[in-house]
Amino acid sequence: MACLFCKIVAGEIPSKRIYEDADLIAFEDINPEAPLHCLVVPRRHIATLNDLQPGDDALVGSMARCAAAIAKQRGVDQGGYRTVFNCNSEAGQTVFHIHLHLLGGRRLGWPPG
Ligand code: AMP
Ligand code: ZN
Repeated sequence: MACLFCKIVAGEIPSKRIYEDADLIAFEDINPEAPLHCLVVPRRHIATLNDLQPGDDALVGSMARCAAAIAKQRGVDQGGYRTVFNCNSEAGQTVFHIHLHLLGGRRLGWPPG
């Protein structure tokens, strides 16, 4: 199992976990780009957004709702926050196990770089 996030899911690599359930974990990004920067990750290995199947719709919905719940818990839900899936190299994906970035706690520029 070479995948970094599979190893984090398995607990083989430490992370600062914020949330976990049967399908998902969320943990702090090791190199935060904002005061709040965490990653919501399915336990099951899915390499990119391109690999999602119709049967994954509920999983992706739960990832979005998890991010929104963390944003509320951290008090950025009303001020605003951003969620991002990077897909493949031109978008800057570096870990090929899908993850939803949750960023907040500062004003976020648009469009992103
Ligand atoms: P992406 O570039 O969209 O694939 O995002 C990968 C993210 O994973 C980056 O924001 C990294 O800082 C983060 N990351 C890499 N290794 C770790 C780790 N061991 N624990 C937590 N976050 C990590
Ligand atoms: Zn994986």
